[in-house]
Amino acid sequence: MKIKLAIIGSTGSIGKSALDVVREHSSNFEVVALAVNTNVEKLAAQIEEFKPKYAAVANENAAKSFQNANVELLTGSDGVASAAALEEVDIALVSVVGIAGLKPSLAAVRAGKRLALATKEVLVAAGPLILEEAKKHGAEVLPVDSEHSAIFQCMQSAGARGSESVERLIITASGGPFRNKNIEKLQDVTPEEALAHPTWNMGSKISIDSATLMNKGLEVIEACRLFDIPAEKIDVVVHPQSIVHSLVEFCDSSVAAQLSNPDMRMPILYALTFPERWPLKLPRLNLAQLRELTFFEPDYVAFPCLGLAYEALKTGGTAPAVLNAANETAVSSFLENKIKFLDIPRLIENKLAEHKVISNPTFEDIVSSDAWARRNR
Ligand code: MG
Repeated sequence: MKIKLAIIGSTGSIGKSALDVVREHSSNFEVVALAVNTNVEKLAAQIEEFKPKYAAVANENAAKSFQNANVELLTGSDGVASAAALEEVDIALVSVVGIAGLKPSLAAVRAGKRLALATKEVLVAAGPLILEEAKKHGAEVLPVDSEHSAIFQCMQSAGARGSESVERLIITASGGPFRNKNIEKLQDVTPEEALAHPTWNMGSKISIDSATLMNKGLEVIEACRLFDIPAEKIDVVVHPQSIVHSLVEFCDSSVAAQLSNPDMRMPILYALTFPERWPLKLPRLNLAQLRELTFFEPDYVAFPCLGLAYEALKTGGTAPAVLNAANETAVSSFLENKIKFLDIPRLIENKLAEHKVISNPTFEDIVSSDAWARRNR
């Protein structure tokens, strides 16, 4: 029996890696649905190759220009959400950019699917609600993010007491392209410099998040949600080589780490096949050739986004949703050359200071706080 997949965000960086994995295991996977935002040209090529029954296009204008006799076409954000929840789908891989991932993720868990989640913003903004819905509907939420996949893999050795036997999570950060810059040197960095990530080749939003360390901040929140570990027990350490993907320290002082060359195909496949492990033809780790792995404390002064994320997590309620939305708008403005690099944390901090936090928010509270935080760019 083939595992039936809906790939939401199939033309992005993670979506393409997921389709590579499907290609390598084509006798074990069937692509039932592909969903994109605007890139219908690439979608047409993917339909040709993977022959899904359904295709979804989120952007209404892009959908109007798209015709394909070989698929049933779903349109708009509701169409994308229904693609993630189709009856014949076993696993929905959600890898769209930002809060747009919320609707399809929610639809997938409400339909009892396994949600292989690459869009961390979903858990940042609405983690407790998504996980509660998943529990209610018997759905699993498995991480695709490499650090969380690493922690998840390490957690398999936690024993019967699970997260109770965990003392600390240690999330590694490459440090991004500006790892060696102090705050003065960050004044005039350009989007082009920020997009040039040293170890990972990713989409533009996450590349900027890596340069500001907001990506790591969002990952701290994501880890807190997924593994039910409080902020005080989650540390970040800079590890420029991106070989150790994260670590778990247990109550007996043992530390488990997961290592591999940086390649998203490994965590993607693991989220699709867990509890099994399937082979992948990837370059093997050669420690003697690497010679050294280094670790440093992050610079919280030059990269205030990391501290802001910890603060939003501790504040709780709608604060992480506002952090996320303010970050998404600031990142777009930076990419459009409308603001400077150091304006990103400044704008987020201002939004968080202005926000009246709602504790125990509903989905409507999350959506309205998100919309509020995006106003007055
Ligand atoms: Mg990551």
